[in-house]
Amino acid sequence: MSDAARKFVVGILLFLAAGTVVGWLYDRPVVGLMVAALLGLLWQVRQLLSFDRALRTGNFDDFRQGDGIWEQIFSRFQYENEKATRRKLGYRQLLREVRKSTNAMPDGAVILNSDNEIIASNRAAKQLAGIKRKKDRGQRVDNILRDPELTRLLHADDQSLTIEMVSPIDDGSWLNCRLVPYGGDQKLLLLRDVTERIRLSKMRRDFVANASHELRSPLTVIAGYLDSLADDDDMPADWSKPVAQMQAQAQRMRHILGEMLELSRLESAGTANADDAIDVSRLLEDARSAFEGHADVARILIDADPGAQLKGSAAEIETVIVNLLSNAIRFTPTDGEITLIWRADADGADLIVVDTGEGIDAEHIPRLTERFFRVDKGRARDKGGTGLGLAIVKHVLARYDAELSIDSEPDKGSEFRCHFPADRVVVTPPGSVS
Ligand code: ADP
Repeated sequence: MSDAARKFVVGILLFLAAGTVVGWLYDRPVVGLMVAALLGLLWQVRQLLSFDRALRTGNFDDFRQGDGIWEQIFSRFQYENEKATRRKLGYRQLLREVRKSTNAMPDGAVILNSDNEIIASNRAAKQLAGIKRKKDRGQRVDNILRDPELTRLLHADDQSLTIEMVSPIDDGSWLNCRLVPYGGDQKLLLLRDVTERIRLSKMRRDFVANASHELRSPLTVIAGYLDSLADDDDMPADWSKPVAQMQAQAQRMRHILGEMLELSRLESAGTANADDAIDVSRLLEDARSAFEGHADVARILIDADPGAQLKGSAAEIETVIVNLLSNAIRFTPTDGEITLIWRADADGADLIVVDTGEGIDAEHIPRLTERFFRVDKGRARDKGGTGLGLAIVKHVLARYDAELSIDSEPDKGSEFRCHFPADRVVVTPPGSVS
């Protein structure tokens, strides 16, 4: 107990004792005690009321001058009050600094709660996407940024996912969006202006597409003259070999230009249509028939589930099969074996091309889908490769949210696996297939 508290208790006891003694002098000690207790209570009530007034008005002069327990209560109160005020000012200053720095950020930042409602946003979020700090607080972010891609991002359980969308306030601007979960169930939506990158990549795509397109016409003319020359009986005999070689190269150039145009088309196309169900096992049979008759082709086996169908474009899936199968044929000796597999399970479906060919060194595998990448440029070219086949496969698969994985071992063989998500697959129960 503090000194003041001790004094307070002793003071009250003495006061009550004095009251009792005075009452006793008048032969009424109990009445004396009661009167003293009442007076003491009234005095404390008065102190309490004036303390309450002081709290409300902020004028503590009466207490500042007093002493005893009330003065001590006031001092403690004032000390705590000043400490809280200092802390509040500190927090306010910190908040101001945080707001200043987030406002200085070139990227938009929007804090969302678990229902995707906006808690706070910075200045860049307003400049990039029109999200207003005060007006839009409490609104669902997908009501302001209406884009199916953003909805996909908000519901995805994948932190590494980023999406690109057109800005709602400027249809010439592109935003890259990503979601970072933090602090309990809040999320930070980060918006970055990627207009310049998108513009450059569109320029590159258009350039490749236009250049390929423009080169086609002169090439057709050259190839036409070469064909006429080759058919001309008057052509000197020693010209026939160079002309045949020129014809072969013209054909090769036509093939490369065709693949470059196909790649440009795939790059600018969105998600593949899912209206048609494709009979993949039939496509595998057709591809085998197309290649089987040729010399220098290894044995081709098929292990396909006819009950599983894929939602998409038959022409695109045929492109994937033909590219993977023609690679397997080119890199597998005739006494080897190639197996085409198509099967579905609860996770989706796999289209797999396995060969017992020459295989690929592990160091090259990550680069195989790059344009014009070939493990052995000279040899692959001699075998008729353009180096674009796997890039096309990768781009087709991206349109199906499918993934390509490659497993290979030198001199043992390779496995190219395309995994399609379950929502792309239709499985017909056995017995109901016509
Ligand atoms: P290309 O037209 O040269 O075949 P691709 O993009 O289809 O171009 O393939 C790139 C390279 O990957 C090929 O040049 C080859 O080196 C390697 N490759 C692809 N498939 C196989 C395979 N089944 N076995 C061994 N190597 C392969």
